Amino acid sequence: MEKIRLAVTGATGSVGGAVLDICARFPRIFEIRALSARSNAKKLAELGRKHNAGILCLTEPEDKNWREEGFLCLTGKEGLAAMVEEPSVDHAVFASSGVAAIEALQKALTRGIDVSLANKESIVVAGPWVMPLVKRADQLRPVDSEHSALWQCLRDAPKNELSRVWLTASGGPFRDYGAEEMERVTPEAALKHPVWKMGPKITVDSATLMNKGIECIEAMQLFDLPAEKVGALIHPRSQVHGMVEFIDGTVKLLLSQADMRLPAAAAIAWPKRLPLAENGLPPIEPAGWELDFREIDEKLFPCFALAREAGRLGGAYPALLVGADESAVKHFLGHEISYRAIAEVISEVLGRYGGNPPKTLEEAVALVEEGEKTADKICRDRRNR
Ligand code: NDP
Ligand code: MG
Repeated sequence: MEKIRLAVTGATGSVGGAVLDICARFPRIFEIRALSARSNAKKLAELGRKHNAGILCLTEPEDKNWREEGFLCLTGKEGLAAMVEEPSVDHAVFASSGVAAIEALQKALTRGIDVSLANKESIVVAGPWVMPLVKRADQLRPVDSEHSALWQCLRDAPKNELSRVWLTASGGPFRDYGAEEMERVTPEAALKHPVWKMGPKITVDSATLMNKGIECIEAMQLFDLPAEKVGALIHPRSQVHGMVEFIDGTVKLLLSQADMRLPAAAAIAWPKRLPLAENGLPPIEPAGWELDFREIDEKLFPCFALAREAGRLGGAYPALLVGADESAVKHFLGHEISYRAIAEVISEVLGRYGGNPPKTLEEAVALVEEGEKTADKICRDRRNR
């Protein structure tokens, strides 16, 4: 059997690590051709040697003359695009954060190779410029666990038989907090996620439930659904990741360990399923299953409400939201604004916008930057008050 030859963006990150873990467990199935990161040259080179990748790419190298002995070294966003256009790559995994990989994602889809997508910012900001490039069913495979669950439940179901979908949220560390306790949340507390081990930005987004709101927009884009057909529920045990209700009232749900290696494996090995439990991943025990779901209180989780509204409004708002959240979370982690102020700052950014919806990808990406800059300014003004 021919190996699946992968290029992985965000290789030094948390999801990138999950993807590489799976590849290392199944060396007869996967071959790593190319790896990329933003600036972490040391870790990228280590991973390159460990996985025997021929190509490395840093989008923002600290040293402009960066080179690694024994590798083809690429830089910048152009480097990312070249990496996925490399003829020896037949599957691109997008596990980088931010919007830097959008053009590379477009190139990979246009080239017709398989794509596994963890990066949610690209699809939330650039969905209208990315989704039309998907050429065939299952060319684009979601890696985000909830979307992977929906994708696996939906399989070949005709669109007109689908009623609604739900994403689940663990609810983060503050799911049982009242309004008063929310006032005292610190960055250190927000960084302790009860279930998933992830990068810092997405961990804070999981605590505010901004992540779930952004994921609702992601699901609207990936599965071409209107806002009212996409819901989210708190499910503290994080055993069910996504649910699909069909028009006959039947619900399919996907239940698994909360481990990003599972959706990563489902995406990169599709249509095969890999024997993960036989290869060192923990098996699931039905005895502990509990189907408890709660509504999300939008007053306690205003970031979730803001993202839902941005999804409903569409146009410029999802991109502004992504930018504003990036900035607000950075200022929160730097102890410069309070936890509660994250939602206030984002709300102010969305409320101030008076422009038009983006007509091009460039305009959509520029809106992310605009959201970030406006939020930066609001955060600074708040500190100087
Ligand atoms: P991490 O912060 O752990 O890692 C981010 C990775 O992206 C690093 O390799 C980083 O490189 C790279 N990167 C950051 N900025 C850029 C850039 N401008 N250009 C190219 N590469 C860049 O993030 P996560 O792994 O947590 O998340 C990655 C993506 O997956 C995000 O979009 C996130 O929303 C999504 N996701 C994450 C999940 C998780 O469980 N963590 C679950 C589902 C989706 P460097 O090390 O050099 O900075
Ligand atoms: Mg998720």
